[in-house]
Amino acid sequence: MKVNLKNMTIEELKQFCAGESMESYRALQLYRWIWKKDIDNFLDITTLSKKQREELESRIALPRLKVLEVLQARDKTLKFLFGLPDGNTIESVFIPTKRRKTICVSTQVGCSLRCSFCMTGKTGFTRDLSVWEIADQVRRVESIVEKRISNVVLMGIGEPLLNLKNVMKAIKILNCENGMNIGARKITISTAGIIPGIIALSQESIQVKLAVSLNAATDRKREILMPINRKYNLGRLFEALEDYYSLKGKRITFEYVLIKGFNDSISDAKRLASITENIPCKINIIPFNSIGPGKFKRPDPERIKKFINWLSPIAQAVSLRVSRGSAIGGACGQLRARKP
Ligand code: SAH
Repeated sequence: MKVNLKNMTIEELKQFCAGESMESYRALQLYRWIWKKDIDNFLDITTLSKKQREELESRIALPRLKVLEVLQARDKTLKFLFGLPDGNTIESVFIPTKRRKTICVSTQVGCSLRCSFCMTGKTGFTRDLSVWEIADQVRRVESIVEKRISNVVLMGIGEPLLNLKNVMKAIKILNCENGMNIGARKITISTAGIIPGIIALSQESIQVKLAVSLNAATDRKREILMPINRKYNLGRLFEALEDYYSLKGKRITFEYVLIKGFNDSISDAKRLASITENIPCKINIIPFNSIGPGKFKRPDPERIKKFINWLSPIAQAVSLRVSRGSAIGGACGQLRARKP
């Protein structure tokens, strides 16, 4: 088996170099070649001697995700279909604005949570992504669009907190100043509310942002949308989030997908404000994006405005997510593993 250097954090590269009797400064050098210069051939590393390169080349892998398809929406959002070495596929979305260049990254092939309003869950779960398969989404997109990525949101296909070990390593790779150098505060992990994952994340020293997909303010409604609520209900979830906040001291974002006639009434707004009042937070309203025929619909624009007007005076901070890329199936909830 070849050694895949792209699965390694800088610490692991140091161990690798030690094992190969290479000087320890070589680790940083290798890291820069891989993540800054984006090489895919070990023989290109001209700072190593020719002999060293030839000796190691046959035992080392520097894989890249295969770009199978790139779709562009009118608003300049780009959706990438990537091929993995085992033939599976994932999607990533590039969302440029004047101030930010954001990439939405996948963390699993498929998803096990089967939320009823999300396309990703329909195809079921295949496997976790490895470290490099997560980090290379950012590397590939940055190389293709030739713009520096400023923000990373782990909100693509999959549940990041069910693949936390690989996700954390990938974040360390993205965050490292000798590579893509993306600030930890510019990286957001979004979860459906996996409590053991939230606890594990609270022990990590890196200061990433946490977003929690709430989507309903009562257990009864949340269970209809998200089966995971039967395992981790709102009471337990908020207990875990309060502990998280007391350890991290960082405001949490709640995502709330607004669905016509289901969770968009004035009493839903009141309930939402009340369950979130004891934790410093921001509420991000995401008008439902269509996932094909089904019982859920997006509320009319007037209703969306009304809901925000009900909520804003009684909640701590409220924002509206203008989902982009829906014409290319690149908006929240529309991503899935598919064939090109
Ligand atoms: N599993 C994680 C990461 C996926 S994030 C999580 O649940 O947070 C995907 C985000 O898109 C979530 O906030 C989810 O609530 C939202 N979403 C899913 N389906 C949607 C849809 N059809 N319309 C709008 N938002 C949707």
